[in-house]
Amino acid sequence: MNTLIGHYISGRHITETQHSGPVFNPSTGEEIARCAYGDATVIDTAVKAATSANAKKWAKASHATRLQVLFKLRELMIAKTAELAEIIGREHGKTIADAIGEIGRAIEGIEFACNAPQITKGEYARNVAGDIDVFSVRVPVGVVGCITPFNFPIMIPAVMIAMAVSVGNSIVWKPSEKVPSAALFFAELWKEAGLPDDVFNVVQGDKTAVDALLEHPKIAAVSFVGSTQIGEYVYQKGTSHNKRVAAFTGGKNHMVVMPDADLEAAANAFVSAGFGSASQRCMAVSLLIPVGAETADHLRQRIVEKIKALKVGAYNDPTADFGAVISAQSQQSVLKAIDQCIADGAELVVDGRDFKHPEYANGYYIGPTLFDYLSMDMDFYQQEVFGPARGILRVNSLDEAIAVTNSHEYGNGSVIFTRDGKSAHRFFMEVESGMIGVNVPVPLPVSYFNFGGLRRSKFGESHLYGPDAARFYTKLKSVSQKWPDPEQQDQAISLAFKIT
Ligand code: NAD
Repeated sequence: MNTLIGHYISGRHITETQHSGPVFNPSTGEEIARCAYGDATVIDTAVKAATSANAKKWAKASHATRLQVLFKLRELMIAKTAELAEIIGREHGKTIADAIGEIGRAIEGIEFACNAPQITKGEYARNVAGDIDVFSVRVPVGVVGCITPFNFPIMIPAVMIAMAVSVGNSIVWKPSEKVPSAALFFAELWKEAGLPDDVFNVVQGDKTAVDALLEHPKIAAVSFVGSTQIGEYVYQKGTSHNKRVAAFTGGKNHMVVMPDADLEAAANAFVSAGFGSASQRCMAVSLLIPVGAETADHLRQRIVEKIKALKVGAYNDPTADFGAVISAQSQQSVLKAIDQCIADGAELVVDGRDFKHPEYANGYYIGPTLFDYLSMDMDFYQQEVFGPARGILRVNSLDEAIAVTNSHEYGNGSVIFTRDGKSAHRFFMEVESGMIGVNVPVPLPVSYFNFGGLRRSKFGESHLYGPDAARFYTKLKSVSQKWPDPEQQDQAISLAFKIT
C-alpha cells in the first residue's frame, strides 16, 4: 500500500481524500506514493483557515515578529538541506547536487524577503498644502494563492511564499502534483520556525483545485509559475474573478555567439545551461545561434565532444551530470519532438533516444541530443522542448540573430557571447527578453533584482521576485492627514478644486 501525500491546513496534515493520483520516482519509473487531489471543499477549508482570526493576527504582527520567523526558517533550511534535497531528487529526478543548488536559491529568496520593510515602508511629504501631510502605506492583500510547477519543487514556492508571508499575507499553496512532498516538508519548517497555524496552507491536486482557487472570492492574489498554455488560462480566469494575477510561463532561450567570442567559454555555457537538470529549467538555453559558418562549425565540434562525455544517471548517483525527465509522458513527448525534427529535415548530430540506464530500465531517461541546421518553421524551434534535446540554428549576422530571437513567441531569457561591447549593447537594448546574459550562461538574476519574462513568457505586470514582488503582495494607500490646532478654526467652506 502506497503512502498518501496529503494536504496541510491549520497546522494539521489531512490525508482523507476522495481523489488521488500516482507519484513516481522518475529515476526508476516506480510509483512511490499517491497524492491527494483537493477539490472546492478542501480549498474552501484552507481559505477559511487563511482568513481566520489567527491569520489576521499575522497581518497585524510587527515587522520584527515576522522577520524573526523568516530568520529561523532560513536557519532550518540550511540545517535540513540534505534531507530536503533527497525529497526533491526522489520525486523530480534531478541530481542531489542540483537539488542542493535549488535549495540555496530558495534560501536566497527567504533572505531577500527579510528586506520587505525596506521596500514597503512608503513615502512621506510634509505640509503639501494647508498643513496637510501625505504619506503612503502598504498593507497585505490578504490571502495569496500560489500555483507552482514541478521543475523547482522548493525554490519557486519559497521565493513567492517567503515574500507574501513577510509582508503579512496568508497562503493557500497548490504545488505540482508530480512533486508534492517538498510542500509538506516546507510546512513543517514554517511551523518549527514559529509561523502561526492558519497562515501557511497546502492543498494538493490538479486542475480541480486550481479552478476552485481561482474562483474563490476570498483569494485576493494569485502567483502562478508553469507552462504558457496554463499560465494564460490562470491569468484570464483569475483576473475575471477580480484577483491580481502574476503568471510566469514558458521559455525558448536563445544563445547568440559572435565570431569574436571565447568559443570554449561559450561551448561550456551552452552545455551547462542547456542540459543541466535534464533541460527542465525555464531558463535553460534551448537554442544555439552562432553567427557565421565558421563560428558554428567550431562550436559544434566542441559541444559534441562535451555532451558525449555527459553522464546521465539516477538522482542519487553522485557521478551523474543530469537525471531522468519528470514523467513517462514527458519522455514520450520529447522523443516525439526529436522524431518530428528529423522528419522536418534537421541534422541529428547526437542521438540520445536509445539511452537506457543499466540498472533502471524503466526510468524516464533520454540521453543528450543535439540537432544542427534547424529552421524557424520547424516545431522543434517553435515549441518549448522540456528535455535534453537542444538545437543549433545558424545565422549570418548580429542583425539576423536579433531578428530571430525577437521573432519567437517567448521572451524569457536570451544570451550573447562576444568580446565586443557594441554588439553586447545592441543585443541587450534590442532583444525583447526579460532576462539577458552577456558572456554568462543562465541569466537568472539574484533575488534583489526583478525576475520575469516578456512577450508570452509572462502574463501580468509584476515580477516573481525582487522589489516588485513585495509590491504585488501589498495594497497601496495614500493618506492625507491634518491635525488642526483645536484653538483655531481654519476649515472654511471652499468648493474650488485647488491646492493652497
Ligand atoms: P504546468 O503548466 O503543467 O503546471 C503548473 C501548475 O499548473 C501545476 O501546479 C499544475 O498542477 C497546474 N495545472 C496543470 N494543468 C492544469 C490545468 N489544465 N488547469 C489548471 N491548472 C493546471 O507546468 P509544469 O510542467 O509543472 O512546469 C514546467 C513549465 O513551467 C515549463 O513551461 C517552464 O518553462 C515553466 N516554468 C516557467 C518559469 C518562469 O519563471 N517563467 C519557471 C519555472 C517553470
